Amino acid sequence: MKVPLLDLAAQYASIRPEIDAALDRVVASQRFVLGPVVQACEEAVADYVGSAHGIGVSSGTDALLVALMAEEIGPGDEVVTTPFSFFATAGAISRVGATPVFVDIDPATFNIDPGLIEERTTARTRAILPVHLFGQMAGMAPIMEIARRRGLAVIEDAAQAIGARHDGHGAGASGHYGCFSFYPTKNLSGYGDGGIVVTDDPARAEKLRALRVHGETTRYHHRIVGGNFRLDALQAAVIHAKLPHLDRWTDARIANAALYRRLLGDPAARPTDGSTRNPEGTQSPDTLVLPRVVTERHVFNQFVVRVADRDRVQARLAAAGIGTAIYYPVPLHLQECFAELGYRPGDFPNAERAANEVLALPIFPELTAEQIRHVAQNMVDIVLYG
Ligand SMILES: *Cc1c(COP(=O)(O)O)cnc(C)c1O
Repeated sequence: MKVPLLDLAAQYASIRPEIDAALDRVVASQRFVLGPVVQACEEAVADYVGSAHGIGVSSGTDALLVALMAEEIGPGDEVVTTPFSFFATAGAISRVGATPVFVDIDPATFNIDPGLIEERTTARTRAILPVHLFGQMAGMAPIMEIARRRGLAVIEDAAQAIGARHDGHGAGASGHYGCFSFYPTKNLSGYGDGGIVVTDDPARAEKLRALRVHGETTRYHHRIVGGNFRLDALQAAVIHAKLPHLDRWTDARIANAALYRRLLGDPAARPTDGSTRNPEGTQSPDTLVLPRVVTERHVFNQFVVRVADRDRVQARLAAAGIGTAIYYPVPLHLQECFAELGYRPGDFPNAERAANEVLALPIFPELTAEQIRHVAQNMVDIVLYG
């Protein structure tokens, strides 16, 4: 049996008539950039997320970039963020000329540890950029409290967390900006690159709309410099057509995670074939660490376990036809391009340990129970019996 990490063909097959009709309408209209299809998508996604305004952009990376630009964050400014994320999180800060200031993660959730943020804020700090990694929200209540007290902007990187909830807030809806990606691996994805920034603030929304079209407010008049950060209508049509299915897909991801948990919950005690192998329970209980859910709704963009002997486990799973991935093998503070920031191995032990131990297992909605059992059985065999 083969179990890919992600199979988008299965999703397309399940909704093909709707997608094809939406694409046909755009092609028939010959309006490919912005326009009514993009606007309808923006309104639907903002409404889903729980924000007043949505500004469709060219990618999740550009969503972060325009949010930083809208806040006029630049050289000399600092933005506090996590060292354990996709590169774009810190890359966007660096691209506007500001300095990413990293603080370590909470090892239980992989998200920025809010208790470490304040000691790293300075007179130069302008914003906090938390990431809702793997589909679980970071601690937004303490982050917003620090931001309020210190007058900082909060830009949520919600690229992996559309539909996640905690404390009555949807991911992306409690900060000043919520940034989402529609890259094909995300829970709500287009057929190429795309993203959106959401905000409740009409003034920020207006500025974001200008920034994505070179800062233009009236035709050929520019008070600020922006860029081409537009979302195109074909992507918007796909995203809008998929949105009504998102909660069903998310629930399937959550159910898949629950099945993994049942099968892997305590691998030493409960081999998935019901046998009583390894009755001595010689493995330490932390041989395999399952994702901790500490929020109301974790949307499982990734199902990430920790294993001490990660690379060997990944190779063994690959040999069994099981696709996995490592998000992320190198923490951001140790990336070569940030060498001048002066971070050293050991600065963020939780992020560094995570980088060595994490392994993402297949979790996409269309997985069958049989496939999940196959993955779990192999995990148990490899982790417990070598
Ligand atoms: C995917 C992702 C991004 C970037 O989105 P793109 O659409 O690929 O540019 C940013 N941050 C995180 C955490 C992501 O997972």
